[in-house]
Amino acid sequence: MRRPRIVIVGAGFAGFHAARTLCKIARDRAEVVVVNTTDFFLYLPLLPEVAVGLIDPRRVTVSLPATLPNVRLILGEVDAVDFDGRRVRYHDAEDDPGEIGYDRLILAAGSVNKLLPVPGANEHAHGFRGLPEALYLRDHIVRQFELADATDDPAERAARTTFVVVGAGYTGTEVAAHGVLLSDILYRRHPRLAGHRPPGCWSTWPTGSCPNSTSACPRPRPGC
Ligand SMILES: Cc1cc2nc3c(=O)[nH]c(=O)nc-3n(C[C@H](O)[C@H](O)[C@H](O)COP(=O)(O)OP(=O)(O)OC[C@H]3O[C@@H](n4cnc5c(N)ncnc54)[C@H](O)[C@@H]3O)c2cc1C
Repeated sequence: MRRPRIVIVGAGFAGFHAARTLCKIARDRAEVVVVNTTDFFLYLPLLPEVAVGLIDPRRVTVSLPATLPNVRLILGEVDAVDFDGRRVRYHDAEDDPGEIGYDRLILAAGSVNKLLPVPGANEHAHGFRGLPEALYLRDHIVRQFELADATDDPAERAARTTFVVVGAGYTGTEVAAHGVLLSDILYRRHPRLAGHRPPGCWSTWPTGSCPNSTSACPRPRPGC
């Protein structure tokens, strides 16, 4: 008799734990399939540490094939679900279309960056939900310090070394706190900037009370 197939879309916190638990409970009585965009589970709470270089990116990823050996992994992005026909459609890692049928479906594709009506954020701010974004942020900060070191214009120097995090929740606060640590290292690396540290060079603004247009500006006013 054919085993029932459980398809899980997404292998973040919800999908990963669902797959692991179902494998334990169902043993060989069900086929568990995970469709995920990456072959790893990403431990998001440590992303701020990755962004400032405190932790190697490898340390916040957990290999799906290694930790879920009895789960069939499909590397791909789901773009449609046919609920009547019980089929999930996706594009695989090489962008080829594919589909798979299911008896039970778990949708655990997670959340996306929330774009609140903060002036400038859509145009200028960078999201913070994945490894590429965390690594980009670190490179961006390092580059801004190098450019600040290269100029003699005090206003440009201050702007380039001023960073504003939109959102003062847990993640935003942690990004800002770790940003201060990275800035300390970069000031030591660029002694020419030592006496020019702008006040409030790392700040968080609670979304919803963000004043006018400087919240996500790549070159905000010094001290903002
Ligand atoms: C930087 C950061 C730090 C955080 N720190 C904490 C913390 O300390 N404590 C806390 O409780 N919460 C924290 N959170 C929130 C927490 O990470 C989320 O609540 C949690 O990740 C939600 O889990 P999830 O499984 O629903 O989604 P996710 O963990 O986002 O997983 C979704 C998965 O689905 C995949 N996926 C998405 N779309 C598709 C698709 N179309 N097809 C296939 N796969 C898809 C994604 O690649 C991902 O693997 C943090 C979030 C961030 C961004």
